[in-house]
Amino acid sequence: MTVTYAEKLARMPGYQAGVPTGQAPEAIAAGGIAQLASNESPRSPHPKVVEAIARAASSMNRYPDPDATLLRRRLADRYDSQPGNIAVGNGSCDLLLAAASALCEPGDEILYAWPSFSMYPYLPALTGAREVRVPLGEGDALDLDAMATEATAATQLLIVCNPNNPTATHHPATEIGAFLEKVPAHVTVILDEAYIEFQTNDDPDASLDLTADFPNLVVLRTFSKCYGLAGLRVGYAIGSSNFRAAVDTVRQPFSVNALAQAAGAEAILHQDDVLARVEATVAERIRVQEGVTELGLAVSESQANFSWIDLGDSDEAAVLAGLSAADIAVRAGAPLGDPGHIRVSYGTAEEDDRFLTALAPLLS
Ligand SMILES: *Cc1c(COP(=O)(O)O)cnc(C)c1O
Repeated sequence: MTVTYAEKLARMPGYQAGVPTGQAPEAIAAGGIAQLASNESPRSPHPKVVEAIARAASSMNRYPDPDATLLRRRLADRYDSQPGNIAVGNGSCDLLLAAASALCEPGDEILYAWPSFSMYPYLPALTGAREVRVPLGEGDALDLDAMATEATAATQLLIVCNPNNPTATHHPATEIGAFLEKVPAHVTVILDEAYIEFQTNDDPDASLDLTADFPNLVVLRTFSKCYGLAGLRVGYAIGSSNFRAAVDTVRQPFSVNALAQAAGAEAILHQDDVLARVEATVAERIRVQEGVTELGLAVSESQANFSWIDLGDSDEAAVLAGLSAADIAVRAGAPLGDPGHIRVSYGTAEEDDRFLTALAPLLS
């Protein structure tokens, strides 16, 4: 007899690392690799956040606060919400997984656009729910009308990634509101706003106002991108108290570690720093989008911290190999669902220059 594993393992997509694994991040940077494959921030966390992590470090003999009381209270203050409506997770991916296990039985439906975030296909694989993928519309933007139409009596979870990863497009909150009017009230809609701070169409908090009108709406956000805390793993969801209770029931009590709680609680206080980070990102966005366009390539309209580039006649594998030889890591389009594309995160100005310079001679 040999050990057998659950049949669902065969359905799991698996994660491909953005850069070769086994090296510490500082070694990757010191080795001159431009890490533009994971939509991280090129900037370190705010110094006060680093101090808060250091302060918390000496109490690591204790378990973290299972209620993440301080972090949830600070988030509630920042967003004019109630701590009871806020769930926190070990990254927002933790909350996506918990939402699927709390909401879905085999045979239910989970609906999302495609290409979209590479994490979503885990949710049907894990729960036995049926996956419904809705193709993107014009300009590689979400086709919200088609998504609303696909929702059925069996749909338990509908995920809207806005701005969408990997295509970087964004729909203003008014369009999200009109979409929510069309979605049946039994469907939990997760609005995944990992990149919301970077968009300039809207007040970044406009979507949160929709939670008052739509109790089935959950707004999902993270400290991983704009706040520069990807390594710590902390994200949050603002929705109903029932949603919060449900995701807490299916997870272990200590899903957010004490360092992450301390960091998040401090980071949320520094909104001036968020604005500075967004400004720097938007400056790089304009440069990279223009630079790529000047090379004769098409890009979708980015409202995020990365560009989605159509390589046209150029060979994706050859471009990736050429960039890799120049120590520049970007994301391949094929595994993301659209061959002939690459996704590149904005780095420092120096890294973005390196990317544009290296890309030019690789195009055919
Ligand atoms: C990066 C990203 C996240 C963030 O995941 P964390 O687990 O919070 O690091 C969530 N959703 C999307 C679409 C992302 O691209």
